[in-house]
Amino acid sequence: MKKQILLKNINYLDVENEVIKENVDIFIENDLIKEIKKSTKKNFPDFKIIDCINKYAVPGLFESHAHLCWLTTFENNEKEKILEQFVHKGITQVRDVGGPFDALKKMKEDISSNKMIGPEIFYAGPMLERSPLHWGKFNEKLPGFTVSINTEKDVDTIIQKLQENKASLIKTFNRFDLKIYKYFVKEAEKINLPITHDPGAPLFNSIPMDLAIDLGIKCIEHGKAPWPSVLKDDLQKEHNKLLNSKYKPEEYQALAMKIFSMGIDSISIEKLHKLADKMVQNNVYICPTLTVFNKSEEKDKETTEIVKTLYMMSSFFIKELIKQNVKIIVGIDSCMPDTFQEIKILKNLGLSEIEIIKGATKYPADWLNVYDKYGSIKSNKKANILIVKENPLQSIDNLEKIYMVFKNGNMLYKNE
Ligand SMILES: [Zn+2]
Repeated sequence: MKKQILLKNINYLDVENEVIKENVDIFIENDLIKEIKKSTKKNFPDFKIIDCINKYAVPGLFESHAHLCWLTTFENNEKEKILEQFVHKGITQVRDVGGPFDALKKMKEDISSNKMIGPEIFYAGPMLERSPLHWGKFNEKLPGFTVSINTEKDVDTIIQKLQENKASLIKTFNRFDLKIYKYFVKEAEKINLPITHDPGAPLFNSIPMDLAIDLGIKCIEHGKAPWPSVLKDDLQKEHNKLLNSKYKPEEYQALAMKIFSMGIDSISIEKLHKLADKMVQNNVYICPTLTVFNKSEEKDKETTEIVKTLYMMSSFFIKELIKQNVKIIVGIDSCMPDTFQEIKILKNLGLSEIEIIKGATKYPADWLNVYDKYGSIKSNKKANILIVKENPLQSIDNLEKIYMVFKNGNMLYKNE
């Protein structure tokens, strides 16, 4: 039997045209939005009717920098509760940027077979980098969390695994040999998988973000990523000279300390603006994950200072990129459904309501090549809809005033 629901008299956000369409009826049939019509008095007898007068529908949100595999290290009921909370908060899709295939596949299957409630998961599978593995220790707890890519043969092997395990994207991290990276980009293109790149350490990146963009990468992780690409000329010369000569830890450390203590004085604003232009021209997104650096206390004083500086620099970069109209994708770098924390930070840095919502709907869907099914409210798309009580374009805080959440046409949350 068909499942038919009518959301009557609702206002909805058309993210494509950046407007609220007022007083319409949204017809849901099974898991899809069937039709959107101007509201009439007429009722449709076969449909379950939900009066949504004065409510606002937005597309179900994406959390775009998750590592859900950590949930498998929790108690089972805790894991299930957290996955359910994603949906209750209107996060009906997750872009997972690093974790073992097995853990992610199992979670996705359990959700799609309704064994548990949770978001639709688009995953990358393991973090990929040249040896030695930066997060190698995580492989003890989560085998397959990170995999080394040192040769063209390693690329061929992982490409095959990505296909077998139905990955939706690729995550590259930290160091790579340039020749191998170029080969990887070419092979990924052949199977149509988008790559997102995290350049790794704040400085001394083997594939810095400007180079990644030149190689065709369309998404960059973390707000600190611009730093080595926008250093003032003299510092950049010194930085690149060290990077291209034999690794000497003390010299790296000394220069890093110097640049860290200079902070914003270490960078060229012209270079940052040029980088922003390049991002806009090449349709490159950045997922700032500012939440992860927004911590007051770390394990020791030195780490606290470093994280503070990283937060300050990341915020500065993102504020400038926002001014230059770079497209921002919303994600927090965690396994928790705390995306609203990031939304609030982005709002404070000047990102408009509509751009925040696009960064959590249309942009990730576009980047993942799934905008035909996700990321906006339109007929024939998945009925993943967040309904809120007040207009989210007037204040982004209204996104938290949740009335109902639909996923695959099922009402999974109602705020009584
Ligand atoms: Zn991450």
